[in-house]
Amino acid sequence: MKKFLIAGNWKMNNTLNMSEELFSAINIAVSNINENDLANIEIVVCPNFVNIYHIVLKASGIPVYVGAQNCYTEIKGAFTGEISATMLKSVGCKYCIVGHSERRTIFKESNEFINKKVKVLIENDINPILCIGETIEERKSSNTFSVLKSQLDNCLKDISTDDLPKIVIAYEPVWAIGTGISATTKEIAEAHNWLRHYLIANYGEIIANKIYILYGGSLTENNADETFSIENVNGGLIGGASLVADKFLSIIHTAIAKSKENDL
Ligand code: PEP
Repeated sequence: MKKFLIAGNWKMNNTLNMSEELFSAINIAVSNINENDLANIEIVVCPNFVNIYHIVLKASGIPVYVGAQNCYTEIKGAFTGEISATMLKSVGCKYCIVGHSERRTIFKESNEFINKKVKVLIENDINPILCIGETIEERKSSNTFSVLKSQLDNCLKDISTDDLPKIVIAYEPVWAIGTGISATTKEIAEAHNWLRHYLIANYGEIIANKIYILYGGSLTENNADETFSIENVNGGLIGGASLVADKFLSIIHTAIAKSKENDL
């Protein structure tokens, strides 16, 4: 049985009205999906900070969880402009994206800094969605797996085996994010197999097989079927296509179909 997690990263988009409209369309459609069909699917949307609470209120009673796109490493204090894990928990966030390549690149976040965020999220009962992935230069110089290893070694440092299943891994090749150029089936399969083996080697098979490994990078309603058919792909982290309700819903329906195929 294959389980899927479908997460929409809305990034720095949408005013409150726009987020509410987008969420309403998702809400109505998901509410009409048969409960059994959703048994192996988890749906998450990650709005901007100022819209999160409004979306949490709208999400109550339907099987869609709300996540944040970032948090700070400390829980309170003189950190002007930052948002803590306790604050996210208090408004009902279940997930939080960390280590997204946009934060690594634009805001110069290191693996060590991301590791602190992973820890503070786990301490506050929020599931981190940990993004990792290589740049095009790293891929071209055959460094993809050494980069992934270094990102995982450092971002997961001192995380206990018991806590590991709380973490979702999102493999997002940097060159595929927002470019319209998804990684090929072969590239995704190689990376996801490597990631599963890394987890097995470090945490054992039982724990490793509980971890969702998502693919992210120009995932759309057109390539979801092919992507979700790949072994060790347990769903997707979706940017652009998650901003259009019909596209996001189509990806959800593809995951439902794939979960049923794997159920047979
Ligand atoms: C992302 O931002 O995590 C992402 C995968 O974006 P896109 O789907 O637009 O490539």
